[in-house]
Amino acid sequence: MGVDNLVWTTLRVKLTDPKDMSKRKIKKLLIANRGEIALRIVRACAEMSIRSVAIYTEPDRYGLFVKRADESYSLGEDPLAGYLHPARIVNLAVETGCDALHPGYGFLSENPELARLCEEKGIAYVGPSSAVIQRMGDKTEARKAMTAAGVPVTPGTDGNLADIDEAIIEAARVGYPVMVKATSGGGGRGIRRCDSEEELKSQYPRVISEATKAFGSAEVFLEKCIINPKHIEVQVLGDSHGNVVHLYERDCSIQRRNQKLIEIAPSPQISEEQREYLGQLAVTAASSVGYVSAGTVEFLLSGDDVYFMEMNTRIQVEHTITEQITGVDIVREQIRVAEGRELSYRQEDISYRGFAIQMRINAEDPKNDFLPSFGRITHYYAPGGPGVRVDTAIYTGYEIPPYYDSMCLKLIVWALTWEEVTARAERAIDDMRLHGIKTTAAYYKQILSHEDFQQPDFNTSFVVEHPELLNYSDKRHPSEVALALAAAVAAYSGW
Ligand code: ADP
Ligand code: ADP
Ligand code: MG
Repeated sequence: MGVDNLVWTTLRVKLTDPKDMSKRKIKKLLIANRGEIALRIVRACAEMSIRSVAIYTEPDRYGLFVKRADESYSLGEDPLAGYLHPARIVNLAVETGCDALHPGYGFLSENPELARLCEEKGIAYVGPSSAVIQRMGDKTEARKAMTAAGVPVTPGTDGNLADIDEAIIEAARVGYPVMVKATSGGGGRGIRRCDSEEELKSQYPRVISEATKAFGSAEVFLEKCIINPKHIEVQVLGDSHGNVVHLYERDCSIQRRNQKLIEIAPSPQISEEQREYLGQLAVTAASSVGYVSAGTVEFLLSGDDVYFMEMNTRIQVEHTITEQITGVDIVREQIRVAEGRELSYRQEDISYRGFAIQMRINAEDPKNDFLPSFGRITHYYAPGGPGVRVDTAIYTGYEIPPYYDSMCLKLIVWALTWEEVTARAERAIDDMRLHGIKTTAAYYKQILSHEDFQQPDFNTSFVVEHPELLNYSDKRHPSEVALALAAAVAAYSGW
């Protein structure tokens, strides 16, 4: 039985209220994104009889999302400019007769201006209001909002830091080690740990310069560094009728340089009481700001202590594993909510079953400090079999452009027990053939087979504490050797 079949049997779906059908039905939706998430949104549209419109810049001309969407429009030669211009994108949505826009993740997904322009032009924005994006996208504002709602936040500054002198005073108050963080940061960038005043003095200007370059804002703040925490985040969904539910949590503790590599749902490392508490906390957090659409409330866990870290006001890369354990199609719910409908589920309708793991297969060389490894995919064979889902926009012959994120494939597995799911994850990696570029897949096998992972007993320091896991053999697979031989023979004999 497939993953979805298993999960669906455990769900009681609330029947759609016929009155709901009079709400604004979305007919045509523009996707302001690229790659696998654009394709994910095209798929949701196709299942909902919504016409999908892709936008792309020339380096992405051969992207699968461009081919698969119902309509596609080029936004010029520049690899990035087209994806980062809110007014141009919203105007295109109007010109092409779209009544909705989905921002995906990254790019403009947490840019309040994009949402605001949609509101102005009467385009249904698939996400929360521009005001909520603005408020929660600012990490210090979000901390204030959460404190007011009674959600425990990581100890730190009340607002942004004025200068290094204030940073020194605040760090002494909070106690070392501290984290200096970019207020509008994301994607793991603009965060530095400082263990002493000396380090603070040297790192402070670095975070400012990184934040200015990456996020166009020099604002920074300071938090107590929680030692060896678990990163646990809760998926929430809200509608415009005031309903908010949670879809349980994900454990994203397997990270490198504050970026997630492997994600798990639900966390195999927390108790039922903690799960219940975190779910409640996330619903409180989302309700307190009138949250609409899919969002994620991120927490750090240390022993019994829980600290709010940030809220992501968009679909996340790892929404997939929550879909696998709950059977809820999160992108579909986002679109329904943008139509003004109520959520399809009440909290009591939502249950989870088994475990899901997502591996972010990146085009990077782990043995060479994770240097990006872009280029042509000479051969790709997708993993399959029971409980396997692949979200990707790559195919054999596709050339990964060097201008974007290095994540090229999300390999997701589901199974009833932790033991089965870890075995399945390793097996699925072995199923896959992905040649022509270096990837993180073989490295992930090392992580999956480590006893601390299997126990399970790991936190955000796992990767840095296990450098030996990089010493795996990257002997070429026989099929790759055979392909290389065949290519050489063909070249030699002039075929
Ligand atoms: P998730 O929380 O969904 O796991 P990540 O933090 O991995 O998301 O980010 C997903 C993508 O979005 C990455 O390409 C990342 O660089 C980008 N991203 C996230 N936040 C921001 C931001 N504030 N500004 C620019 N890009 C961002
Ligand atoms: P981003 O917006 O880039 O996702 P986050 O604030 O979510 O940034 O932090 C990303 C990661 O950095 C966390 O998952 C965690 O591993 C680490 N981190 C952030 N803040 C702290 C902290 N105060 N103490 C310890 N680790 C932290
Ligand atoms: Mg985060």
